[in-house]
Amino acid sequence: MSLDHVPAPNVYDAEPIPEAARAEIDRLLQSGDLFRYTAPADAPVALLEQDFAALMGTKYALAVSSCSAALFLSLEALGLRKGAKVMIPAFTFAAVPSSIVHAGMQPVLCEVGENYRIDVADFLAKLPGVDAVIISHMRGHTSDMDAIIEACEAADIPVIEDAAHSLGTTWHGRKIGTIGKVGCFSFQSYKLVNAGEGGILVTDDADLVARAVIMSGAYEHNWKKHKGPEGQNDPELEIAFARWQNKLPLYNLRMQNLSAAVIRPQLPEVARRVRDGRANHDYVANLLNASPWLAVPDALAPEDRAPDSIQFNLQGFVSDSEAKAFADAAAERGVKVQVFGLSNDNARAFWNWQFIPGDVPDLPQTRAMLMRACDVRLPARLQKADLDFIAEALVAAARDVKGDDRAVA
Ligand SMILES: *Cc1c(COP(=O)(O)O)cnc(C)c1O
Repeated sequence: MSLDHVPAPNVYDAEPIPEAARAEIDRLLQSGDLFRYTAPADAPVALLEQDFAALMGTKYALAVSSCSAALFLSLEALGLRKGAKVMIPAFTFAAVPSSIVHAGMQPVLCEVGENYRIDVADFLAKLPGVDAVIISHMRGHTSDMDAIIEACEAADIPVIEDAAHSLGTTWHGRKIGTIGKVGCFSFQSYKLVNAGEGGILVTDDADLVARAVIMSGAYEHNWKKHKGPEGQNDPELEIAFARWQNKLPLYNLRMQNLSAAVIRPQLPEVARRVRDGRANHDYVANLLNASPWLAVPDALAPEDRAPDSIQFNLQGFVSDSEAKAFADAAAERGVKVQVFGLSNDNARAFWNWQFIPGDVPDLPQTRAMLMRACDVRLPARLQKADLDFIAEALVAAARDVKGDDRAVA
């Protein structure tokens, strides 16, 4: 079937914010009550924390200004020394090593495989001497959390999960972001829940969350407005707050009420967005895998993904110029493809993280992957005709560069 008459799908627009947000935003605009600590109780930010902790099944949640802020506060809350070594996968977003540098610590990069997941052998080899790890579930791809948690527990090394782009993903049925000591999520517009900006951390550790709450900017006794599960008083949390009173710097990374008002009515939409995003992804993945030139790596067996984009590798593209020609051909056919390692100054290419103290290390395996790994947005709201358009454009673009695949297959 020819799709020439179908316009290229718009993959950039967000979904509208649910109507229910309007009344609450109007109320906040009327009262001017935008600061999370003004109301004596039940401020929208506090209610969001309760809702999100309940959704994730954790004891505590702390809403902040971004996922980067959540990562930074997690590192600070762990009480690591300045200069501590924090391991991260070499395939992640520049915000992740940046949060480590912000905390005065040293990122250590480990290799990532062709399937975008942490190379466990390299991870284990580099683990001795590391003080903490941030597992970045990049683009929602989950690394082998069984092997990672087992090794980190044995070595008593805390695990922070960067689940910025992984809300709704599960591992053996457990929610991603609740497997490590602390999990961090983003509400920036390109993530599953869109508030423009925002982040949240979840944990079951009262001492850790108390430290993070104070450092996020709960000055004086504002921490009294942070409660335990279901908004109940929590003696363990109160003892932790008392322990840290006046002992920690205040970084003022709070969320404001308007953001929470935009986020809360989206939480009931998460399950649908996950279901539709996964169905869309798997539909396109099947079509791409039918081409000998394109390969979508399989998820690991325990993993149920929540994708809003698709990643695939170019196979048999011997030169960078061939890979670039593919991206150009796809663009001509109306689909924008980013080859991570070939787009100029890409924030997900580790050689561009020149702000990391010391020499930027070489990670040949991750580099090779980034030179052939492609990224295409695939929001959950797309319909079958959009998906067919995208898949057909990508398969045809590969054929434009590599020739007729039917002769090969
Ligand atoms: C978006 C993203 C971040 C940063 O989130 P912000 O809320 O923009 O700070 C961190 N890690 C990953 C994997 C991301 O996708």
